[in-house]
Amino acid sequence: MALILHRALNQLSGLPRRVSAAFWLQSGACAVVAWTLLHGGTAVAPAARTVADNASAGSMEATSSAPGMPAHPASAPPPSSSMQLVAPPGPAAEQPALSTTDVIVTPNDTLDHIFRRLKLNLADLASLRSLPGMRAHLDSLRPGESLHFTHKDGALFGLECRLNESQTLKVSREPSGLKADVLQNPLETRSRTVRGVIDHSLFEAVAAAGANDQTAVALADIFGWDIDFVLDVRPGDAFVLTYDQIWRDGAYLKDGPIQAAAFVNHGREFRAVRYTDPEGGSHYYTPEGRSLHKAFLRAPVDFTRVSSRFNSARWHPILNRIRAHQGVDYAAPLGTPVRAAGDGRIRFAGRKGGYGNLVEIEHSSSVMTVYGHLSRFAKETRVGTHVTQGKVIAYVGMTGLATGPHLHYEYRVNGVFKNPQTVILPGAAPIDARWRVDFLARSAPLLASLDAQPGPMLVSR
Ligand SMILES: [Zn+2]
Repeated sequence: MALILHRALNQLSGLPRRVSAAFWLQSGACAVVAWTLLHGGTAVAPAARTVADNASAGSMEATSSAPGMPAHPASAPPPSSSMQLVAPPGPAAEQPALSTTDVIVTPNDTLDHIFRRLKLNLADLASLRSLPGMRAHLDSLRPGESLHFTHKDGALFGLECRLNESQTLKVSREPSGLKADVLQNPLETRSRTVRGVIDHSLFEAVAAAGANDQTAVALADIFGWDIDFVLDVRPGDAFVLTYDQIWRDGAYLKDGPIQAAAFVNHGREFRAVRYTDPEGGSHYYTPEGRSLHKAFLRAPVDFTRVSSRFNSARWHPILNRIRAHQGVDYAAPLGTPVRAAGDGRIRFAGRKGGYGNLVEIEHSSSVMTVYGHLSRFAKETRVGTHVTQGKVIAYVGMTGLATGPHLHYEYRVNGVFKNPQTVILPGAAPIDARWRVDFLARSAPLLASLDAQPGPMLVSR
């Protein structure tokens, strides 16, 4: 796919510093006009036209040229009065007429291809490759990577590309030839606390609070063990989050992990804090140090809807009589993977009456889980096999007494049927006793950040 980046007005960086801030607040088009004025009104800025031309041609680079462009005075808009207040030509006027081109690397692209496309001097490519440490990077370009070229008349004057999130490679032309430097762009972590109330959706509320979708997903993941974000979140539910923002060179780069969060669902508050243990593992815990994970998945399948709830007495559509429904039915497309709800041992895998193809898993703590109407079993699903939570054991089907593809799921404790949607699930292992003191010390300020009074911007640092 053609991608276009345009470094319009790049050469404006050489403008005199006397230009007022108000000038920079003008639109890009105005800046183009101003640039024209600064350079004697002889050249038209190429920005918009170059982008449009390249987009329609499907090419993947965009070039902008500074002084030296053919003059098209007739197409230059008349300068506004404010423009005439701009400072007279500065040092930029004496600079060589360099062009800049941003290239997005496509799959199977090579630097050689790119040099040929841009009609750059291949001798410069050879000297670029001969720079210490350059060859390895330049020969392993990543698709999607952005390369910023500065050139003139086919000669390379500069190349900038990002080596990783915190390092930039900068090649520049010196009198002695091309020279490469690695610039450090250290990442900075800023803590931010935001709060919001859900009106329509969690995503909207998190976005309105100023965090991104990835943070909304992370929030749902943290509390997904206690709250069903598909079915149970209601208008009026509220959240507070303290999360990291990653900044680079004074600019926001991305959201980092959530460090602490509270979510109020139907008036009931859940809290979580992230703890990285001395062995490097990061997990979320309650303020008391209990795991937010449960020993069982609430639903062992990605379902489209609950087609039948747990019910001690309901009309059975096939048997045509009142019968208890001692599990929950999760409607899902045929072949959807079914996962072991918790660690355990397979007790039964085979055909059993109205259940059709059935798997039973025996867990510790007297729990047994049951999965019915399966279309087929996973390869390693055999009696006696140990399974871990989340392992695919079978696939959704409609074997046995079923009117459509769904998983019939049961949760039994000491042989008693419990409602899988509401049963209190046992927790996973709590914070390791060795790290408890450290956990409490480090989580206290994070949890306190959730209770801080919000400022006017709902931000605390
Ligand atoms: Zn059922």
